[in-house]
Amino acid sequence: MKRKVVLLVCDGLGDRPIPELDFKTPLEAAKTPNLDYVAKKGICGLMYTLGPGLRPGSDTSHLNILGYDYHKYYSGRGTIEVAGLGMKLEEGDVALRGNLGTVDENLIIIDRRAGRIRDVSEFVKVLDNLEIDGVKFLVKPGTAHRAGIIMRGEGLSNKITDADPHETGEKVHTVEALDDSREARRTAEVLNKYLENCHQILLQHPENKRRQKEKKLPANYLLVRGAGFYKLVPPFSERFGLRACCIAGGGLYKGIGAYLGMKILKVEGATALPDTNIDNKFDSVKEHLDEFDFFFVHVKAADSLGEDGNYLGKKEFIERIDQSLERLLSLEDILLVVTADHSTPCSLKKHSADPVPICFYGLDVRTDSVSEFGERACASGGLGRMLGLEIMPEITNILGLSDLVGA
Ligand code: ZN
Repeated sequence: MKRKVVLLVCDGLGDRPIPELDFKTPLEAAKTPNLDYVAKKGICGLMYTLGPGLRPGSDTSHLNILGYDYHKYYSGRGTIEVAGLGMKLEEGDVALRGNLGTVDENLIIIDRRAGRIRDVSEFVKVLDNLEIDGVKFLVKPGTAHRAGIIMRGEGLSNKITDADPHETGEKVHTVEALDDSREARRTAEVLNKYLENCHQILLQHPENKRRQKEKKLPANYLLVRGAGFYKLVPPFSERFGLRACCIAGGGLYKGIGAYLGMKILKVEGATALPDTNIDNKFDSVKEHLDEFDFFFVHVKAADSLGEDGNYLGKKEFIERIDQSLERLLSLEDILLVVTADHSTPCSLKKHSADPVPICFYGLDVRTDSVSEFGERACASGGLGRMLGLEIMPEITNILGLSDLVGA
């Protein structure tokens, strides 16, 4: 059996010393015998996903970790989100994230999520496949109030502002060009016409009349944001010669997998919340060992708990990851890489640029004297300080797949 790679990304895992935890981080304070075992048998270090001082978003950091320089492959969240909805992007497309929201007759936002509407497929159907000035609009429903939108046509640009003002009580923004290019002006103009069109269609939608009778907020405006421009992305499997799949609960992470051409595996109970079924995620790796060489496994909640400042919750969630990890350690020949996409310190309640712990574990991996998986222990590890973009070259080197430089 060819060696398999499991890249486990624990979102927002890194943290800072917390006085209530005896100045340990949640990861250091957590009981993690399995992660410590991996650290002891493997090689550790600290990793900057983007670079020192750069506060990573979860999207840019994952691109770098997976070997795709965000400078080249990131142009906005829209492209990643629509890829995650299974929409096929073509070169030159502009992609946007959308919400079905509620506005009043003056276009003031009453609710950005139309009363937390559960399903927007009926509304999206009538907005899909419309064409304005030679630009086709493709729309697909996402989870709950969300939708993905693709603009397809000649001469488009993602250098445009959001229509979504991101706040209730504000008026819907007119989309504007962010530069002087003809493409940006044309994209903004066509998109404004489309959004107005959508608004008129939604106002008349029978489903909205029904909702109003039931005293529910109508879904009467498509709020768009995060425009991205799609340039061809070489699929992960071709670039690295590894058949790859993605195991994740959160839409963004499935989107990243899909954007890079990975197969998205469905996992029962994968919610991206603290109650997510981590056992099922790791079992899914085992079930698909014959089918894939590279498993990108994402676990979300350490990040959300960090954003809540909930250091005890974060510590407990890390302990849950650790318990589930045992399922993978019984596998014979895997290269396991455990890391995070960024730190989310409980004291800051947001992403920080602090480097994150990383560990490579498996047969034929060098070791160092680190015996614990944590921020301060990994600081003295054999990997030193590495960059997100150095992970994939390191993996292909350990697998013996790297090209010879020179003769
Ligand atoms: Zn993240």
